[in-house]
Amino acid sequence: MLMRQPGSVADRPLRLEDLPVPTPRAGEILVEIRACAICRTDLHVVEGELPALRTPLVPGHQAVGRVSARGEGAGRFREGDRVGIAWLRHTCGVCDDCRRGDENLCRNSRYTGYHADGGYAELAVVEEAFAYAIPAALGDDEAAPLLCAGIIGYRALTLAAVRPGGRLGMYGFGSSAHVTIQIARARNLEVYVCTREPGHRQLARTLGAAWVGDLREPMPHRTEGTILFAPAGDLVPVALRNLARGGTLALAGIYMTPIPRLDYEADLFYERGIRSVTANTRADGAALLAEAARAGVRLTTTEFPLEVANQALELLKVGALTGTGVLLTEDGFRV
Ligand SMILES: [Zn+2]
Ligand SMILES: [Zn+2]
Repeated sequence: MLMRQPGSVADRPLRLEDLPVPTPRAGEILVEIRACAICRTDLHVVEGELPALRTPLVPGHQAVGRVSARGEGAGRFREGDRVGIAWLRHTCGVCDDCRRGDENLCRNSRYTGYHADGGYAELAVVEEAFAYAIPAALGDDEAAPLLCAGIIGYRALTLAAVRPGGRLGMYGFGSSAHVTIQIARARNLEVYVCTREPGHRQLARTLGAAWVGDLREPMPHRTEGTILFAPAGDLVPVALRNLARGGTLALAGIYMTPIPRLDYEADLFYERGIRSVTANTRADGAALLAEAARAGVRLTTTEFPLEVANQALELLKVGALTGTGVLLTEDGFRV
């Protein structure tokens, strides 16, 4: 599904086109894609809210498929191995951030379905070093949504730093949170969820939340760590006041409405901290996939044939999707 120019999804900017089979270069693999989950970032790319760096472009950055060819020197996977292709596509390895091990902060990073063609296709290439091995316990359509929404929630959970058995708070309960709560429960954390949507509240209860309330309802206990999934800056002081001494609030969004003025005593004193979450390292992704497989994480997905990508994005845009939308190729439907 090729985007020649960005445009409103209502105008169907993605078109089904036949492209030449990409050739994997040195260190790259060619992947026969079965499933590619859709993400709000895809919508921003397709509609041009993120500046177009490259047209025409195949979007998509949560793809799962099988290795079908290897470029020169690529030996990490064998043909037929199941792999995932995610947003982080390349880091420089030499900047200060990369050298410190914080490749999520690399200034020279490149992204799949943005700087290069992505997963809304039957075939895609990726550097083997940036591909993920997919554990056998996860189906193609289950693994795909983990590759973006899942990884960000996982990194936020890491930064929120709640010890096993401790209390974790969450504000907002979308695609990312519904993966994160399952990991948190498998670690035996008590999870407190604030969300506006009645459907989301029900899902949070089903997935083992100890308490579920509305966005501004005070949680019944202070939490050691809290994740703010909702992009609402006015919830920052609300969440900080629910934190125990020494607790951390992790902000999982890439976008946030203005944060009101904070009060030092009420909001921050006693070593409460705020961490923003920026992209992920490959180690985050690998750790999430392994832990999700062990924890038996289950995802709610809605499947679409690849050629209706515009319509799937439109449903995401208007909030009419149940769970995460996943595009399947013909291969994906055959499995
Ligand atoms: Zn994404
Ligand atoms: Zn770098």
